[in-house]
Amino acid sequence: MASTMGCYTCGRNARFDSLPPRERVAADEHWRAAHAFDTALPGWLVLAPRRHVTTIANLSSGEAAALGGWQVRLSRALREVTGCAKTYVVQFAEQPGYAHVHFHLVPVAAELPPERRGPGIFALLGAAPADRVGEARMDELAISLQDVLR
Ligand SMILES: [Zn+2]
Repeated sequence: MASTMGCYTCGRNARFDSLPPRERVAADEHWRAAHAFDTALPGWLVLAPRRHVTTIANLSSGEAAALGGWQVRLSRALREVTGCAKTYVVQFAEQPGYAHVHFHLVPVAAELPPERRGPGIFALLGAAPADRVGEARMDELAISLQDVLR
């Protein structure tokens, strides 16, 4: 088992009960969905397992069985709340501190400019603090998504 020391996602999972809505958009025993903390795109979600796993190949049968359901339910909720035309689902998990498996679920607006399509969407992640979706707005979106998911 790889070390959970220095793992951003495990640090947040350890505080599950006190996480704000933006960090607990949805969850079950296997997965937790959060709003990405450094994105300029409202509704950019990250879906990660509740335990430390660094490769999709090591997901448990239970985690694997729940994964598809969450990707579809969250995509439907994003469509309803953000009006997106579709969602991108992307998984890399190779940045230092972020090796914990996490799926980006990215709402894609119909009017998204061509240079932001496909991998170009990642220009909207790792945004400068002034360009990031604010915490209050992320919490608001999280609560709207929770209402739809209920
Ligand atoms: Zn971890």
